[in-house]
Amino acid sequence: MSGLDSLYQQVILDHSKQLSGFGELERADAERFERNPTCGDEITLQVALEPGTDRIASFGWQGRGCSISMASASVLSELAPGLTMPELQSRVDAFREMLRSRGVGEPDEEILGDAVAFQGVAKYVMRIKCAMLAWVAAEGCMVQLR
Ligand code: ZN
Repeated sequence: MSGLDSLYQQVILDHSKQLSGFGELERADAERFERNPTCGDEITLQVALEPGTDRIASFGWQGRGCSISMASASVLSELAPGLTMPELQSRVDAFREMLRSRGVGEPDEEILGDAVAFQGVAKYVMRIKCAMLAWVAAEGCMVQLR
């Protein structure tokens, strides 16, 4: 394992121990349940917008599953608040593209932040759905809010 790989693994490990955004929101504008049957991961994700805008005010989720799915939801919860919906969509697109790249190419750390830690997951086809779970749920919320 290269030094960079182990650094990335540390980010995932840290998030899976200390989950950001875990819990139910008091007020949500959209809610979406997603599951990944191949691994058994489940998530219910909630989004609240700043009133009268398309900017994300808060982001909450509950669920259970493997450490990759939970850490990925945690990373997304730190990334999303303060973004507009088009900005969040561009993060979702970049994350999906990174996971489909099979580890080829450089992910954009500027827009993905800690989420680049999941680049290594791209090598394991079975785990891509784990990493995408929360992000697909976020997309589902955005569809409801359009
Ligand atoms: Zn999983």
